Amino acid sequence: AAQASGPGAARALVPGVRSIIAVASGKGGVGKSTTTTNIALALSRMGLSVGILDADIYGPSQPRMLGISGRPNSPDGKILTPMENYGVKCMSMGFLVAEDTPMIWRGPMVQSALQQMLRDVAWGELDVLVVDMPPGTGDAQLTMAQQVPLTGAVIVSTPQDIALIDAKKGLNMFRKVDVPVLGIVENMSVFVCPNCGHESHIFSHGGAKREAERLGMEFLGEMPLDILIRETSDSGRPVVVSDPDGAQAKAYMAIAERIW
Ligand code: ADP
Repeated sequence: AAQASGPGAARALVPGVRSIIAVASGKGGVGKSTTTTNIALALSRMGLSVGILDADIYGPSQPRMLGISGRPNSPDGKILTPMENYGVKCMSMGFLVAEDTPMIWRGPMVQSALQQMLRDVAWGELDVLVVDMPPGTGDAQLTMAQQVPLTGAVIVSTPQDIALIDAKKGLNMFRKVDVPVLGIVENMSVFVCPNCGHESHIFSHGGAKREAERLGMEFLGEMPLDILIRETSDSGRPVVVSDPDGAQAKAYMAIAERIW
């Protein structure tokens, strides 16, 4: 097919993919990937056809979180068949390189890898492709946001000031490339002691909600710091599918409904 030129060219839509939502965070370790997986599974439970593009090229988490191993097939040697589990399709650099292989590529290689994972994959008909963005708001992330035809972005942050400051940078990044921010999720917002029920605000509390209000953004919800969330996502059985009637799954479903 003929390629258009100009800045729109890189943002050409992906055939069959109706919307693309990025999940981003200002810094690493705030639970961006965990949130991505569970929101994607929640959207799938709502009856949507869903894919996950793991754009975290240097630290792909989706294979482990979705409990998928192995390599994608390519029947024609060009187009990859996405991997799939729990009814959600997924493409990740983690399927293409060994888990302990460090990625030491430079920017242009990362960009071409991202384009391939976006366009040379038989995604089929998707209502939504959820993109697990690399952490941070530097040039690399800005380029990615520019290269993928995003419908909207969700920002994940812990409640502490530092994570929030970084989340604000993420917000500004999407504004720069004219991608609407759908809202902010506060992750690890409270720890409830399983023995006595006491609530501890380990990373402070309510910061993301306050900040969302101040910036006129939607507050999509808060997720507790919860051992079941960690254990299930680290073992490839995310809580939305492994404990579908639990409070955690319900909270993720509520977030997904606010996004959609
Ligand atoms: P990021 O993508 O921001 O680097 P991850 O999603 O990989 O963060 O999460 C980092 C670690 O924290 C993982 O071990 C994950 O299981 C855990 N984690 C994420 N969110 C929660 C939560 N709400 N409660 C408990 N553990 C969490």
